[in-house]
Amino acid sequence: MNSINPAAWRAFAAAIGKDQVMITEEDRNAYADHFAADESKHEPAGALAPASAEEVREIVRIANQYRVPLWPISRGKNFGYGGSAPVTRGAVVLDLSRMKKIEVDAATGTVLVEPGVGFFDLYDHLQSKGIPLWLSVPGNSWGSVAGNALDRGVGYTSYGDHASRICGLEVVLPDGDLVRTGMGAMDGSPNWTLYRNGFGPGWDTMFCQSNLGIVTKLGLWLMPEPEAVAGYDYEFDKPEDLGWAIDTLMPLRRDGLIQQSPSIGNWLRSAAVMTTREQWTKDDGPLDDKVVAAIRDRFKIGWWSVQVRFYGHLDVVEASMRVLDRAFDKKPIQSKKPALWKRGDPPEWSPVTGVPVSFPLANANWHGGRGGHVGYSPVLPPSGDLAMDQFKRTYALYQQYGMDYHASFAMGERSLTNVNQILYNKDDPAMMGRVDSMFRALVADASAHRYGEYRTHIDYMDLVADCYDFNDHALRRLNTRVKDALDPNGIIAPGKSGIWPKGKRP
Ligand code: ADP
Repeated sequence: MNSINPAAWRAFAAAIGKDQVMITEEDRNAYADHFAADESKHEPAGALAPASAEEVREIVRIANQYRVPLWPISRGKNFGYGGSAPVTRGAVVLDLSRMKKIEVDAATGTVLVEPGVGFFDLYDHLQSKGIPLWLSVPGNSWGSVAGNALDRGVGYTSYGDHASRICGLEVVLPDGDLVRTGMGAMDGSPNWTLYRNGFGPGWDTMFCQSNLGIVTKLGLWLMPEPEAVAGYDYEFDKPEDLGWAIDTLMPLRRDGLIQQSPSIGNWLRSAAVMTTREQWTKDDGPLDDKVVAAIRDRFKIGWWSVQVRFYGHLDVVEASMRVLDRAFDKKPIQSKKPALWKRGDPPEWSPVTGVPVSFPLANANWHGGRGGHVGYSPVLPPSGDLAMDQFKRTYALYQQYGMDYHASFAMGERSLTNVNQILYNKDDPAMMGRVDSMFRALVADASAHRYGEYRTHIDYMDLVADCYDFNDHALRRLNTRVKDALDPNGIIAPGKSGIWPKGKRP
């Protein structure tokens, strides 16, 4: 499927070289959503891979001339949310993965990355040059540092709220203009990646989860290598332990003692990565208690598990551990395993120490066949009771639809993000027939409690955006007005986050 004017393809080839214009069937398949049951639903018309911001500007000018919708991706590893595929079938993927410049300022602990820089690239760069700065990486670290931060991805260290560590962007606007935000607006400023606000309104968050521009450089703060990392891996025996565990940790999160976002998750998190379902049972339907007990026994884990970590000066980390011990004194934990890393120790190959990994992607194999998953992630207030209610309702829906419960609750400074995955086998039509209605039921349930998703799959962007309904969807009206003003031809990522250009609104 390719409804793009052939003259546009020729113009793109003239601008960036014909090898960087990819329009074969194989190319289109490569950029589809490989976790989707029907990959053709979001199949792009092709892809363009520019090498510089200047080439991006040229592409944008041509796209305006021929009205070509572009779907910018950095590395396109947004699995569970659509991968590299666009919301609208037939859009052209703008693949920025060739733009791989890294500019680290070791003295200030900042980096300016181009979109193609992956977590592994940045890690290797820091390691090979012996720069004592640590990354915060997501569980699947195959993707892009910039792309992940722009989609509000999260990691495990105290720098884990990636979007909040952005400091300064360079953006190609939908009309081809090039803008730098914050202090970057002053040509040659030494403060671009140091001071976020600049002067006047701030625009950085406007380009997160948005379709208002194409980010070609992103400033990010990195964590100075700590003297020590210490903490516990806690295991909790019963589903009901979720409530008090959250109420024990949240005050320490709020008062700043704990600076990362502990993520308390259930037994399937480990089992789905390390094993496949058929190793445990041949039965369909939700896993029974005997299977759950066997999984927990094999991995020596609780019904819930959480890793809590402190980063920084050894003295401070040790003092923090004492406060944590006091908070958990006499609490009915199943077990706790201490963790301690000190500068000079061999690296711990783990995301909690900022080392990129990709093995969690293996959970797509849980059911066998061609696997995949979709993420459901409502945000709720930081209360144990509300988390327990949320867990029970979501668990009941997983049972009702015959799916295996896979959940975590990540503790932010003032909120909980309940990240769930629905794991499936694309080759099982009966199972796939349940996934969509289950997802819609989950979103309806969250919305009934006035909880919104923090992020969603390209299939559900309108559904989720619809839930943000104050004053008859005033937020959508605002987004749409800004979209129309900046992108009157509607060329950048139509439908992203439920924001549609004129004439395309569903
Ligand atoms: P990752 O490879 O880290 O998973 P992606 O490249 O898939 O990240 O990006 C995730 C989403 O963020 C994309 O689907 C797109 O909507 C948005 N995005 C990524 N990179 C850019 C960019 N450079 N400019 C604007 N939006 C972007």
